[in-house]
Amino acid sequence: MKFALVENVRSTAEPKKRGICANCGEEMMAKCGRTKVWHWAHKSREMCDSWWENETKWHRAWKSEFPEDWQEIVHVDQQTGERHLADVKTAHGLVVEFQHSPIRNEERSSREKFYGNMIWIVDGLRGELDASYFQMGLHRDPLQHNPLAYQLDWYGRSRILHDWNASEKQVFLDFGNAFTSGPSVVWRKIFFDPEKRRGVVAPYNKRSLIQAITEGEDIGVSYLPDKAETAEQTEERR
Ligand SMILES: [Zn+2]
Repeated sequence: MKFALVENVRSTAEPKKRGICANCGEEMMAKCGRTKVWHWAHKSREMCDSWWENETKWHRAWKSEFPEDWQEIVHVDQQTGERHLADVKTAHGLVVEFQHSPIRNEERSSREKFYGNMIWIVDGLRGELDASYFQMGLHRDPLQHNPLAYQLDWYGRSRILHDWNASEKQVFLDFGNAFTSGPSVVWRKIFFDPEKRRGVVAPYNKRSLIQAITEGEDIGVSYLPDKAETAEQTEERR
């Protein structure tokens, strides 16, 4: 975890620090090694939240786009008392989950039910060839312009599109700048037909997505500024 309570203050891990888990109250130890991102781990047992996945630099970079007091928020089901740590929960009540590893359908669906108002941002660069296959399968001309959407034929061997197809929430695939230049883009899955291995995706400017989440605005289907728009105009509009 990025945060633990140290003298009741949410604190990041530093060598030799000790803290308390905000979710379960267990003692936590700061893990500050050379390879993994600095994090907190439970002293006596495994992570208290079975949905938690080991944090990567990718997780951290995304979380850090949002205010600290929106990150790693304990979410409690008032009826059952079940509790989980949301990666980000905004002041507007939206939960944003950043998913690096493949996830079983069952767990994905449980998490969607538990959080209700949520979206997924999926690390598209985990599978080595997924970005290349995504680029290869993306049709050059848009299927439609407003909102902007492209057809995608999936030649990849991985099941990234199959797996996220059944999600009832908005799913954004993040391939970083693997095959785009200029402003970073994430790709919203509109739909995918697993039999035909064909679907529709819509590009969304990453900064605009972060802004929409932060402001509590409607995220919409796709958003890319018109090519003619200058950087200054983009900045102005933001
Ligand atoms: Zn805990």
